[in-house]
Amino acid sequence: MDEDEAATSGNHTVCPLCGGAGVVSDPKYAVIAGTARTIDNGRPCRGCEGNGYRSGLIPPV
Ligand SMILES: [Zn+2]
Repeated sequence: MDEDEAATSGNHTVCPLCGGAGVVSDPKYAVIAGTARTIDNGRPCRGCEGNGYRSGLIPPV
C-alpha cells in the first residue's frame, strides 16, 4: 500500500496501467528505408483514457 501516493492524489488514483503517463508503450516492428527497427509512438492508455489517473480509489489488484 502506497500511502504517500494515495494522500497526494486525493480521490484520484494514479493509473496502474500507465503509471500516470497517460500513454502506454506500443512497440511496433517496422521497416524504414530498408532498415528493420522497432518504433514506439505509444498510444493513449485504455485504463485512464490518457489522463494518467482515474477517478475514485482503485484497490490494488
Ligand atoms: Zn493509464
